[in-house]
Amino acid sequence: MTAGFAGANILVDPNGFKAGEGWKLDVVVASQLVKRYNGLEAVKGIDFAVRARECFGILGPNGAGKSSTVNMLIGLSPVTAGELRVFGLDVRTAARRIKRRLGVVHQDNNLDPELSVLQNLVVYAGYFNIARKAALNRGRDLLEFFDLTAKAGERVENLSGGMKRRLTIARALINNPELVVLDEPTTGLDPQARHLVWQRLFQLKEQGVTLVLTTHYMDEASQLCDRLVIIDQGEILEEGTPRELIARHIGTEVLELGRAAGETGDLVTTAGPLIHGHQVVGDNLVLYPRDSRALLQAFQGRRLARLLLRPATLEDVFLKLTGRGLDS
Ligand code: ADP
Repeated sequence: MTAGFAGANILVDPNGFKAGEGWKLDVVVASQLVKRYNGLEAVKGIDFAVRARECFGILGPNGAGKSSTVNMLIGLSPVTAGELRVFGLDVRTAARRIKRRLGVVHQDNNLDPELSVLQNLVVYAGYFNIARKAALNRGRDLLEFFDLTAKAGERVENLSGGMKRRLTIARALINNPELVVLDEPTTGLDPQARHLVWQRLFQLKEQGVTLVLTTHYMDEASQLCDRLVIIDQGEILEEGTPRELIARHIGTEVLELGRAAGETGDLVTTAGPLIHGHQVVGDNLVLYPRDSRALLQAFQGRRLARLLLRPATLEDVFLKLTGRGLDS
């Protein structure tokens, strides 16, 4: 790693600081935040707080209101009602001051395809009034961090999807932001490319950068997020660490059974008090065991198309809360 890369330690703008209100700890605070488009209420009065140096996730299916939330946060879309503060500053009145300290990774890469990889960074640095020499140095450091040094002179259009994504994240870091907001950072990437992005985001967090990301991938949320909110239809359903949420709603494991039509009631009866809940997912019945071993034994000898005991996931939590999957 190259020097000068870590996020700044001072996370609070003294002009925005309000003694006793906890801004020092919380980089983002949303209270009763609402986004309305004409008649549609996309965000329905949500509350959340992002702590310094954590990776905070907004997990939910398509249309849940994730982008609407982050677009208000990054000053791209006006707040309809409620309050939203970043670094203790009101996004309504201090957008420019916030933007200087913020990095944004949109869903679309929107890189300049005509320019080289390094030029993309240098041109972007110009928007932050970073001098050319400093921009070149910083750009090269960022390319190194994102394994793109060998591509510095390459035109962007010749990069793979994963490389473009890494370059887009690198670009968002050109101004050394304290907070980086990423909207669906790995959508459309293959598993290997996703893992590389996750690794780099994890390293950024280790260096003290606060991350807010939206995702509809439960594995992304589990891997990266220290805390998250689960959002659906503009409302926050739950908040906590991935582990807490899974433990609170499901436990450690679930048992998936293949079910024939009309068989659900019988299977649930067999499970009896050995489960604390169940969900039907297509041809599968998902059981939430109180005692996994005893539950497995209860189905021994029974002819089932599927019998799988597996670790519980955030997808199970979402399913239990809404009756739907995250991809539905
Ligand atoms: P997500 O990011 O979770 O997929 P969005 O915030 O994009 O969800 O969308 C939430 C809801 O708001 C959806 O019903 C979507 O169609 C609607 N919506 C989003 N942006 C606009 C817009 N600019 N104008 C009107 N409706 C919008």
